[in-house]
Amino acid sequence: MDKNTRICIIGGGPAGLSAGMYLEKKGYTNYTILERNDRVGGKCWSPYYNGKRYEMGAIMGVPSYYAVHDVEEFCGITHDGPKLNRNYKNKNGKVIEPFKVNGKYFFENFTRLPRLLGTKKQIKAFGELLETKYKGYDINGHRGVAEGRYDGYAVTPERERVEGVNENLKDLALPFKEFCEKNGVPYVQDVWIGPFTSFGYGYFDEIPAAYVLKYLDFQTTMNFVNVNLWTWKNGTQYIWEQLNDHLKNPARLNSTIEKVERKDGKVFVTVNGEVEEYDKIIVTAPLYIPNKRTDGQKGMVEYFDAREDELELFSKIDYERYDVLAVETKPEDHPEISYYVFENMVPERLGHLMVYYRRWKETVEQVITTYSLRKHKNTEEIPYDTCKQMVLDDLKTMKNPASNVINEWSVYYFPHVFSEDYAAGWYDKVEAMQDKYDTFYAGEVMSFGDMDETAEYSRELVERFF
Ligand SMILES: Cc1cc2nc3c(=O)[nH]c(=O)nc-3n(C[C@H](O)[C@H](O)[C@H](O)COP(=O)(O)OP(=O)(O)OC[C@H]3O[C@@H](n4cnc5c(N)ncnc54)[C@H](O)[C@@H]3O)c2cc1C
Repeated sequence: MDKNTRICIIGGGPAGLSAGMYLEKKGYTNYTILERNDRVGGKCWSPYYNGKRYEMGAIMGVPSYYAVHDVEEFCGITHDGPKLNRNYKNKNGKVIEPFKVNGKYFFENFTRLPRLLGTKKQIKAFGELLETKYKGYDINGHRGVAEGRYDGYAVTPERERVEGVNENLKDLALPFKEFCEKNGVPYVQDVWIGPFTSFGYGYFDEIPAAYVLKYLDFQTTMNFVNVNLWTWKNGTQYIWEQLNDHLKNPARLNSTIEKVERKDGKVFVTVNGEVEEYDKIIVTAPLYIPNKRTDGQKGMVEYFDAREDELELFSKIDYERYDVLAVETKPEDHPEISYYVFENMVPERLGHLMVYYRRWKETVEQVITTYSLRKHKNTEEIPYDTCKQMVLDDLKTMKNPASNVINEWSVYYFPHVFSEDYAAGWYDKVEAMQDKYDTFYAGEVMSFGDMDETAEYSRELVERFF
C-alpha cells in the first residue's frame, strides 16, 4: 500500500493507539486517530485519588504481553507498579484458603482434598493436551479455528508466523465447561475461573473455549497462579497516554463522528460537523451494541453506511455487563489485601461481588474497587442499581463496608460471539471482509478483551495489510 495512504483510526484506546504506532514504524505517517472521549486509554482508565492513580479499568499484565512491551520500549517506560497480592473469602465473608492442602490449612480443606488432588492432576493433563491435541490453540486471533486450522503469529517475543491444520481446534467453539468435560478435565475450571469470570469475561457454560484459552493459555494461567504479574505505578492509562505523547499524530480528543460514508474508493468521515476525506478506515470502537446505552456509545453500524454483510455479522455480537465501583471505607474497615470470592463467580450468584482490589499495600488512604457481572444468557439481566446495592451489601458482609462511592462505571465489556456463530465461522467471514469497503475491523472483538491482545491484533493487521 502507498505509504501516503490517508488512514482514519476510530478510537484512542490500546487498539487504536497501537495501530498508529505500528503504522508509523512501517513508514505510514498520514494517519489520524479520532477519540470521542476527552482522554485516551479507553478501558484503561486510571483517575487520581489523593495524588495517586487508581484503576477503574485494566489493572495488570503478564510477562507475555509482547505488544504492550513494544509500547513500553517505544516510550521508554516500564511496568513499575505495586505488586499484586490476594486472599480469598467465602460468600459469608470468612477468610478461606481454597488451594492449600498441606500445612496449617490442611484440616480446613480435609473434605476438599480429593478435589484438590484431582485438580492438580487434571491441570497437568490439561497442559499436555493443549500442547498436543490442541496444537496452535494459543496464537492471537481466531482465524481458521472454526475450520480446524491455525493461522497467525506465535506468542513469543519474535512472534513468528505460524499456520497449520488441526481438526481438533474446532472444539474451541464449545463453551469452556463443555470443552473441559469433553476432555475429562472439568476441575481445571476451579483455577481458570479466577482470572476469567471475576475479571468480567462471563461464565464457563456460555463462553466459547477459544476466548478462555487464547487469553488464559497455559503459560499465562500459571503466571496468574504464581502472581507473576505486571502493574503500572501511574495506572494502565499512563501506558497509552505515553504512547499518545510519543506518536507523530496524537489522537484528536472530543471527536464526535456523526457519519461515515464509503464511496468511490474513498472514506468520508463527518466529525464535529466537518467532512474529512480518507483512503482507509480502521475501526477499533465497538462494531455493534445490542441495546441502548446511557453513556451514548454506539456500534459502528449505527453511524456508518453499513452494508448488509456488516449488519448481518456484527448483529451477532454481545457483550458483558461488567460493573466497577470505587469506594472509600473508614480506616478501620479497610481490607488488608485484595480478595477473591469464588462462591460468587457462578451464575446463581449473578450480580454479587466477585473480587475487590486494594492497590497500595502501605496506606489505607486509597479507594477500593469492586467488580461484578449482571448478565448471563439463561438469567434475567440484573438492573444496574440493584447490582450496585448488592455489591454494597456484600461489602458489609465482608466486613469492609463502604462509607462513600466515589466513582462508578457500567462497562461495555468483552464483546464476543457465542458458540453457534463461532462454529459457523464468524471470524473467517469477518476476516474475509477486511478492506472490502476500505474498512478494517480491529479492537477487542477481533481478538480478546485485554490490552495486549487488542494491541497485538493491531500489530498483525498492519503487518498483513499495510
Ligand atoms: C474493569 C476492567 C478491568 C480490566 N482489566 C484488565 C487487565 O487487568 N488487563 C488487561 O490487559 N486488560 C484489562 N481490561 C481490558 C482492557 O482494558 C481492554 O480490553 C482494552 O482497553 C481494549 O482496548 P481497545 O482499544 O480495543 O478498546 P477500548 O479500550 O474500549 O478503547 C476504545 C476507544 O474507542 C473510543 N470510541 C468508542 N466509540 C467511538 C466513536 N464512535 N468515535 C471515536 N471514538 C470512539 C472509546 O472512547 C475508547 O477510548 C480491563 C477492562 C476493564 C473495564
